[in-house]
Amino acid sequence: DSWPQGNGLPYDQLQQILLNTPSAAKAREWSSYYTAGPHLAGKNLSQALWTLEKWKEFGVEDTTLASYDIYLNYPLGHRLALLKKSDDKTEVTFEATLEEDQLDEDPTSSLPDRVPVFHGYSASGNATAQFVYANFGTYKDYEDLVNANITLEGKIAIVKYGRIFRGLKVKRAQELGMVGVLIYDDPQEDGEITEENGYETYPNGPARNPSAIQRGSTQFLSILPGDPTTPGYASKPGVERQDPHNSIPSIPSLPISYKEVLPFLKALNGHGPKATDFNQYWQGGGLTYKGVEYNIGPSPEDVVINLNNEQEYVTTPLWNVIGVIKGTIPDEVIVLGNHRDAWIAGGAGDPNSGSAALNEVIRSFGEALKLGWKPLRTIVFASWDGEEYGLLGSTEWVEENLPWLSKANVAYLNVDVAAAGTQFTPRAAPLLNQVIYEVAGRVQSPNQTVHGQTVADVWNGNIATMGSGSDFTAFQDFAGIASLDFGFGRGAKDPVYHYHSNYDSFAWMEKFGDADWSYHIACTKMWALAAARLVDSPVIAFSAADYASGLYTYLRRAEPSALPETHFDFAPLDTAILEFKSSAEAFDAYADSLTEQLHEDVPWYHWWKKVRLYFQIRVANDKYKGLERAFLYEPGLDGRDWFKHVVFAPGIWTGYSGATYPGLVESLEAGDIANAEKWSKIIQERVNAATSLLA
Ligand code: GLU
Ligand code: CA
Ligand code: ZN
Ligand code: ZN
Repeated sequence: DSWPQGNGLPYDQLQQILLNTPSAAKAREWSSYYTAGPHLAGKNLSQALWTLEKWKEFGVEDTTLASYDIYLNYPLGHRLALLKKSDDKTEVTFEATLEEDQLDEDPTSSLPDRVPVFHGYSASGNATAQFVYANFGTYKDYEDLVNANITLEGKIAIVKYGRIFRGLKVKRAQELGMVGVLIYDDPQEDGEITEENGYETYPNGPARNPSAIQRGSTQFLSILPGDPTTPGYASKPGVERQDPHNSIPSIPSLPISYKEVLPFLKALNGHGPKATDFNQYWQGGGLTYKGVEYNIGPSPEDVVINLNNEQEYVTTPLWNVIGVIKGTIPDEVIVLGNHRDAWIAGGAGDPNSGSAALNEVIRSFGEALKLGWKPLRTIVFASWDGEEYGLLGSTEWVEENLPWLSKANVAYLNVDVAAAGTQFTPRAAPLLNQVIYEVAGRVQSPNQTVHGQTVADVWNGNIATMGSGSDFTAFQDFAGIASLDFGFGRGAKDPVYHYHSNYDSFAWMEKFGDADWSYHIACTKMWALAAARLVDSPVIAFSAADYASGLYTYLRRAEPSALPETHFDFAPLDTAILEFKSSAEAFDAYADSLTEQLHEDVPWYHWWKKVRLYFQIRVANDKYKGLERAFLYEPGLDGRDWFKHVVFAPGIWTGYSGATYPGLVESLEAGDIANAEKWSKIIQERVNAATSLLA
């Protein structure tokens, strides 16, 4: 009768529609639309309007634009050269083009309106200086150089992409008094599939095209995502703006290809220590076969880099597209989002494989609506703008709608890159783990060695913790909304994914990435099924017990950060977590019993039992909904108070990967035991609040 069949369509029929509607031909069509030309943040209004029209066509009448005035940069020009100075003249040894090859096989690589390569939020500046090679530019890498008595002040750093978020490579260089940073993709990161190993390079083969350049943001995203001038509040026209210098660089940086970084790295040959005998951690380097010895430098005094970066900073509108399907319960909301903006004309992987998937998810729900389905909870679909610069559209939208989201939002389901390889790579708040296992077990894997294998069958079962680097950040870390993010990423034997380069294109996708669009479709189906489960299950499909095991595991992970001689006492936290564990398990069992009762036949004259049951479900759902919020600490983390979650944050020096109990672990690592005690108490209070909520 009523729940869930009362929604106009039996639940298994809804699932069938969501599994049968998505089509490879449609995904291909949406991909080819989004990837046909430049659609940088703030320069994609036509795509926002097109998306809005499509969603209406699919049956989501209530679709609108949500726009913000955002402070960001567009490139004006650049120059990068290797110079040899002598008393009377300066000779240009090498002048970089900073251009990717224009390929006949890849039409969007040669569009006349392509944007010069640059870094989001990089500083304008013209530096001429000696330079050093600083490995991946991690905190530790720079520290190793300092400890080896390499003078960094006044120098330019050449670093590889990888390991940590690129903006943090620039942040640390800047703090150490360096004057510029060059960042390149070393083929070392491509594993097996390299030119050196005999693989042909794109477009002829799966290896990296040597001219490929990775663009990307250099915002300090572990400090503050969103518009850097409006921390914590929405960038609406006319609002007060703050000085952004704490969250964006003050020194210039440029991205460069491995082909063009060669002359710079070779100029370091024979100068300073060798990376390979520097220490274990510095081993490797994929350009040895091209004559690079990976010396640290510094370059001789007369061998310098001229790095000139010209950026224009503007305050300009950005457009999110927001579609709403109203549910029967007004204040329980599930949000699904993907970003639309890309650095390049293409973006076939990042983000528009996700955009194609989102359109197919919406079209599938549209089919269900046509058959009379009415969701139990409200669904909100979001096509974000400005993710690439710093999660702009999603962050501003969450900041603007915080009171409503805090009250109503049950979960946020993000897909950024849906398809760039064969490996299913989910990350999630533990409350959502079970939903991921369930949907991965229901969707056929495109990567079967045995007929009938599901995504779950060919997946190692790992769900990573939430860090940052995509649009779930404001939901999870600022608003305390349980979030997940998934897609198919590159595996070691897959063709090299040309992330943030011109070759993340429709042509690459169709030849190497997802030739039959099957990964797009598998991701679409999992996303739609996850949404359906969360939208239509009478009792919210959360597992509080999984949160409890997460809290326990993270604490074990935190322990090694405390030096034994400090005798730091983890026992009070352990006790709090154990108490939470027992109330979480009891609560999950109670919630399951409510679901079972729903399926019991109740004679009509016991109608009041149903009323009571609906009331009990409502109360239980309020608790599940509020559970993630219980872990928010309003004053925020030390030195980055926008981040409010005491369990999850981006690692302060990693950005992408998640830190757990960030306040506690950072204090322990800094040897600040008093502060660690403070954080232990704060976390205990939040865990206790979660325990009482479920009691
Ligand atoms: N996905 C973007 C990147 O990794 C995020 C940028 C940001 O979070 O600032 O570059
Ligand atoms: Ca803001
Ligand atoms: Zn992306
Ligand atoms: Zn990106």
